[in-house]
Amino acid sequence: MPTLKIPTPLRPYADGESVITLPGETVADVLGALVERHPELKKHLFNDEDKLRPFVNVFLGEENVNQLEGLGTPLEDGDTIIIIPSIAGGQPEMSKGDQMLPELTHQEILRYSRHLLIPDVGLVGQQKLKAASVLVIGSGGLGSPVALYLAAAGVGRIGLVDYDVVDFSNLQRQIIHGESRIGDLKVESARDRMLDLNPEIQVDIYNEMITSANAFVIAEPYDIIVDGTDNFPTRYLVNDLCVLTGKPNVYGSIFRFDGQASVFYAEEGPCYRCLFPEPPPPGLVPSCAEGGVLGVLPGTIGSIQATETLKLILGIGETLIGRLLLYDALDLSFQTVKLAKNPECKVCGVNPEVTELIDYEDFCGLPTHGHDEGSAGDNWDITADELSERLQSGANLRLIDVREPHEQEISNLEGSELIPLGQFAARLSELDSAEDIVLYCKTGTRSTRALEILASAGFEKVKNLKGGINAWAAYVDHSLPIY
Ligand SMILES: [Zn+2]
Repeated sequence: MPTLKIPTPLRPYADGESVITLPGETVADVLGALVERHPELKKHLFNDEDKLRPFVNVFLGEENVNQLEGLGTPLEDGDTIIIIPSIAGGQPEMSKGDQMLPELTHQEILRYSRHLLIPDVGLVGQQKLKAASVLVIGSGGLGSPVALYLAAAGVGRIGLVDYDVVDFSNLQRQIIHGESRIGDLKVESARDRMLDLNPEIQVDIYNEMITSANAFVIAEPYDIIVDGTDNFPTRYLVNDLCVLTGKPNVYGSIFRFDGQASVFYAEEGPCYRCLFPEPPPPGLVPSCAEGGVLGVLPGTIGSIQATETLKLILGIGETLIGRLLLYDALDLSFQTVKLAKNPECKVCGVNPEVTELIDYEDFCGLPTHGHDEGSAGDNWDITADELSERLQSGANLRLIDVREPHEQEISNLEGSELIPLGQFAARLSELDSAEDIVLYCKTGTRSTRALEILASAGFEKVKNLKGGINAWAAYVDHSLPIY
């Protein structure tokens, strides 16, 4: 019977199963058997017309089923089907001509001696690295190893874009920063560490969010863009920017134990939109802030992005253009699948519709301004202080925790019941619309989703704890940890 692999983001809807053997003559049969076995998965894979959602790809071995016979593709015994959802991630030579290459000083020859000893790099290769320029978007989990390794390798000019400050909870994985830099701008903290590692290079910093308004100006001086972002609007912005400017996009994304990497270079292969034409709706795919990430995972994926960047500059090896690398840290397995250019791609296809940068927040279904994470809106929110007052006054409230069981062990509100968001729709019958219900999660994002489910089922007496249990820990009960 064919085997089906389920990626980490979808496992909560499949009772945690990662590999399932299911009967079926075609891909459609097996997916049908899958959603029959795990009905919660259905809405994540199919739309209301039972068509595969545009942010889900199905591969048979190395091939996208769209390149075969679609969902009707026949199966043989022992075939492996892989579901690849989007996760909140030829041999061009990017360097200048040899004549224009800068000389290396004696100091640089000593510093890079382990490169100069490799025939594929050598003196000319090191000069190409010195002449190269790379823009790294994000200086967090992925950006840390990318920026450090590119700096150490002697990439002559590196740009860093980030608008955040270093936070204590970043240090579990963002190894370019240190405890002494908490509260400092990430771009300054990262630049100082890179120049400490290698003062021979130039580091440009952009302490701002990359947007449609500034992206062309920021990207202009660089040959290659590395995508180290953690959100869909920026991911689509970076993709379109790279397609429109003809630059390669070295892509990486991470979630819990799973990583993806590729090189999207529309001049020679597919772009990110060829693979994922549309983003998932907000809230369907949890971010690392909500779902967590193993601290070393961005180290693995970011190191692969740095490797691909160096190969592009040097013009050596087989890059990930036209391939997507899938990494599963739990199985310790690497797998690559082939990606094809989509002639109907809206940005790199034959008749592109997207010919300039658009509003990516809007494209990804997010409110453009003042998006207050963890808030359902004034009428639906209750603050930690208000909830505390109502509980003290003896109000009869039903507290529902929509987090996962392992989070309940970190902190919880006394008397609350656990209904994880993934099970919420299926367990609606346990709730009564006549009761006063307060929903909460870690920061309010998942409970907002749960509230939307209740509101659309006709519940009116329901509130969302704004800012989640972390807000409760910050403002009401200091004995609880913030996580
Ligand atoms: Zn494309």
